[in-house]
Amino acid sequence: MSTIASEAKVDAAAIDGLERSFRGQLVRPGDPTYGERRRVWNGSIDRSPALIARCAGVADVIAAVRFASDTGLVISVRGGGHSFPGLSVCDGGIVIDLGPMKGIRVDPETRTARAQAGVLLGELDRETQAFGLAVPAGIVTHTGLSGLTLGGGIGWLQRKHGLTIDQLLAVDLVTAEGELVTASEAQNPELFWGVRGGGGNFGIVTEFEFRLNQVGPIVLAGPIFWPMEESPNVMRFYRDWIADAPDDLMTIVVHRKAPPLPFVPTELHGKLVVAVVCCYAGAVEDGEKLVRPLREFGSPVLDACVPKPFLEHQAMFDPSFPHDWWYYMRSCDVAELTDDVIDIAVDRSLQIGSPRTAFPIWQMGGAITRVSEADTAFTGRHGGFTFNITAMTESAEGFEAERDWVRGFWSALEPYHAGVYVNFLMDEGDERVREAYGPDKYDRLKALKRRWDPGNVFRHNQNIPPD
Ligand SMILES: Cc1cc2nc3c(=O)[nH]c(=O)nc-3n(C[C@H](O)[C@H](O)[C@H](O)COP(=O)(O)OP(=O)(O)OC[C@H]3O[C@@H](n4cnc5c(N)ncnc54)[C@H](O)[C@@H]3O)c2cc1C
Repeated sequence: MSTIASEAKVDAAAIDGLERSFRGQLVRPGDPTYGERRRVWNGSIDRSPALIARCAGVADVIAAVRFASDTGLVISVRGGGHSFPGLSVCDGGIVIDLGPMKGIRVDPETRTARAQAGVLLGELDRETQAFGLAVPAGIVTHTGLSGLTLGGGIGWLQRKHGLTIDQLLAVDLVTAEGELVTASEAQNPELFWGVRGGGGNFGIVTEFEFRLNQVGPIVLAGPIFWPMEESPNVMRFYRDWIADAPDDLMTIVVHRKAPPLPFVPTELHGKLVVAVVCCYAGAVEDGEKLVRPLREFGSPVLDACVPKPFLEHQAMFDPSFPHDWWYYMRSCDVAELTDDVIDIAVDRSLQIGSPRTAFPIWQMGGAITRVSEADTAFTGRHGGFTFNITAMTESAEGFEAERDWVRGFWSALEPYHAGVYVNFLMDEGDERVREAYGPDKYDRLKALKRRWDPGNVFRHNQNIPPD
């Protein structure tokens, strides 16, 4: 329905005008690739834009923003298309798709890298790891660098090297008026503060510049599995074990049914398990010593924590989060893994239905906490643990039941909620966005929005309205 309505609204001659100078590709409803190009990672999102502008460079982004402003089309901006609530595609508007903008330049001398806005995490890792370097970023290689960075960016290296934004040096950004500006500590510093956590509210970032850190190339990494019934004990042991862990260690605890991956023995497939997934980014021998007590605790049914290339570890979760499955997530930070929290978590995890559903708990802390909370728009540097309660099904079948499980679980944890990471919000309304930043930062972000986007041109995001 929305397609028909929007087709009627957008003047074909205006699109032809745009096309004459556009270096990338314009995809309209009815074009052979339209069906594929409007899809985003989350298969439960089904939206039909009036136009998809696949930008080849900055000039295309500027042209697309000006076109939208002239025609009154709503803009959604697409980096990697991995927003859980599908914010990078809209009904009846224009998708400014940065996907083709894949340029990456690594300078091993200065240990910096520049990456364009269509780069995916695995693409950046591949280029930086050629020099034994990396930007700390997320845990699934097909996630977009753009959206992840603009929200903050958490991942396997966060405890050692901080959030993705903690290594960000500068961005180039196209404003609501179609002007290109740079934001860094030296140029437009308040804007630079805002893009480090404030998402796409202030403009379209076309290029990022990062500082690089030495990483690997070999790390000690991978999961250790126990039957989920052992989780109450495993989680209590884990809580004490990580209490004094060095920043080289980052862990994610996952409750789920064991996936049918090549390294998981067939007899475990589909069995409820708890896994502690480790990534030790220091010397492998030190990691082995540190991880030994965990390996020896209880009766693990699989130990796949081994020395391996960092690139291989980065791709470990890829098959568990493919494109087109149906996803729904509710997230919260929780300060401590108290006995109560552990008991709720395990009790609810034992009720997981779908063989795809997963409930990861991220260990926070380390380098993230050594940047002051006030220094960036990202909020929650002192959050203890980030919970992602994620429903996953291969199609619509069984999705609702799984989503109800997520909501019930999330509500049961309500007394322990201590903030939320903006990139893990669904479409949860203004109040939740305000909660994600807290009142002071939210007001500062609003002032910034008034300065750079008073008309709320960039609103198809976790929106901070100007008024
Ligand atoms: C499988 C999976 C794994 C994930 N793992 C992690 C993880 O390890 N760590 C983590 O921190 N997060 C993670 N996330 C969350 C992720 O950070 C967000 O979903 C993020 O928005 C994805 O960025 P994207 O560019 O792919 O998304 P998109 O859907 O393209 O964009 C997301 C939002 O950002 C805006 N946007 C995108 N690019 C730009 C730009 N260049 N300029 C302005 N606005 C822009 C969009 O308009 C939209 O509002 C994961 C998500 C998924 C689906």
